[in-house]
Amino acid sequence: MTSSATSLAKQIADCEAKSTFCSKGDALRFIDRSGYPLRPYRCVVCGDWHLTKQGEG
Ligand SMILES: [Zn+2]
Repeated sequence: MTSSATSLAKQIADCEAKSTFCSKGDALRFIDRSGYPLRPYRCVVCGDWHLTKQGEG
């Protein structure tokens, strides 16, 4: 059993459940069109960009 691998798989599954963007520009364009108060952040797990509510983190 490799619990660290299981944990990583779970983290990646979490990533796939989120909106994921290849670049900050793509994320910002999506936010602009969505009208929601979101901001992009670089994910340490998958290295792509996800969105979070403004004010968090
Ligand atoms: Zn991620």
